[in-house]
Amino acid sequence: MDRFKRQRVKMVDSQIRSRGVADIRVLKAMEKIPRHLFIDEGLIDQAYNDNPLPIGERQTISQPYMVAVMTEALELQGSEKVLELGTGSGYQTAILAELAERVFSIERISLLASKARKVLESLGYFSVVIRVGDGTYGWSEEAPFDGIIVSAGSPDIPRPLVEQLAVGGRLVIPVGGRYSQTLYRVTRLSENVEDVKKEDLGGCRFVNLIGEHGWRE
Ligand code: SAM
Repeated sequence: MDRFKRQRVKMVDSQIRSRGVADIRVLKAMEKIPRHLFIDEGLIDQAYNDNPLPIGERQTISQPYMVAVMTEALELQGSEKVLELGTGSGYQTAILAELAERVFSIERISLLASKARKVLESLGYFSVVIRVGDGTYGWSEEAPFDGIIVSAGSPDIPRPLVEQLAVGGRLVIPVGGRYSQTLYRVTRLSENVEDVKKEDLGGCRFVNLIGEHGWRE
């Protein structure tokens, strides 16, 4: 086992499994994906620490535990079509690519999108499609989605995202203030867009979701 693999096994054990994440597919994906390749070389020794890290452009790669909690909440089985808002480094995107059939990811900062694209391609994740733009509009041409994951904090739940969720599909999103939010899982129950189940998954702290249905810059 190389040193990074050892660090990943330890990360999953001590930061993720021990805090209650039990989905075996999520745990395996997090043991597999080389998180250290998604950050700058200067931070490589911190790649498997229990915290977010800067990725440039005033953005962050999320804390591993938060990635695990959000991914588990999607309850992916392998056949799903998933939309991600906030590609960032592409790390969460790789986890999703391991667990779902197709992944569409939107990032508003083109430099981050192109860096993420490069790393994902170098790891063989050719089925991921990344687009640059305001993700709060969703991706209507590809809707409906079985899962939508938003890795930036929003003042409200963007309506286009619920509209683009398949019946039975799940949206995982941090909602609240600019500096702290509550993580919600929203499950669409019927064709009626108002007919949703909303579950509180706990407190969190994300960078802002900036866009038409998010925060103003
Ligand atoms: N999950 C990412 C990872 O693993 O590296 C971390 C994402 S970072 C916490 C949040 C990202 O959301 C940032 O890269 C930011 O530029 C992006 N973002 C913010 N508002 C957005 C929007 N309206 N559409 C798409 N991306 C957005």
